[in-house]
Amino acid sequence: MSDTILQFDDVSVRYSGSITALSGVSLTVRQGEIAALLGGNGAGKTTLLKAASNLLPAERGRITGGRITFRGEDVTRTSPDAHIRKGLVPVLEGRRLFRSLTIEENLVSGAIGAGLRSADIRRGLEEVYSFFPRLKERRQSRAGLTSGGEQQMAAIGRGLMARPQVFLLDEPSMGLAPLVVAEIFETLSRLNRETGLTILVAEQNSAVALKHAAHAVVIGNGRSTITGLAADLAQRDDIREAYLGGA
Ligand code: ATP
Repeated sequence: MSDTILQFDDVSVRYSGSITALSGVSLTVRQGEIAALLGGNGAGKTTLLKAASNLLPAERGRITGGRITFRGEDVTRTSPDAHIRKGLVPVLEGRRLFRSLTIEENLVSGAIGAGLRSADIRRGLEEVYSFFPRLKERRQSRAGLTSGGEQQMAAIGRGLMARPQVFLLDEPSMGLAPLVVAEIFETLSRLNRETGLTILVAEQNSAVALKHAAHAVVIGNGRSTITGLAADLAQRDDIREAYLGGA
């Protein structure tokens, strides 16, 4: 399909010890949309995002079958750095900020990783601060001393500094109060509307993800179980009960 930006075809992943985490998962992410990747604990969401960033070898995992295509190009075996330079940027769970560096230094680290120059870095910081005014207020604070919500915003901001075309976002709601989660998803929606950023977001909080996504895929036990319009899935009690913990 011509508006496809990221495609998984029959992707399987195994970790060392022969743990099969994904078995033949297929999904399509369309240019300019927010797509939700849903499923309970251990369903395989993080594994899928790591597969799309080629971060599995560091976890002693590997893609054992299938293909991942980004803008028509096979990226199944592309290095993690090359993924970022192409615009496929992961924002993983746990936030992984440099705790002793300031918020601004953390943001800049995202641009350096992507090989950007100083004028681009200044423009990038302005853009991040326009979407996250709180980060501007906290820019001189050490990341380790900021709140969980501010850290999540900084992780997203650091990803933005790499000039993404697609964000691979893992559980942005994790450990955060409902109001903060709502604020973060509102900002992601704004980013999507105003910059055209495509977002594939893995969430256990299916209610908030379905509210903001166009399409959703539910993974159960390493297989893509249900795919559809987010608005339709949000209406289906059977799905919520079977796969989404009634959330
Ligand atoms: P959660 O929301 O709890 O993070 P998830 O849907 O993201 O869950 P994954 O973390 O992708 O699920 O895990 C999928 C399966 O792969 C699980 O059975 C998990 O135990 C296994 N797994 C994940 N990481 C590793 C690893 N580094 N080594 C071995 N097995 C792993």
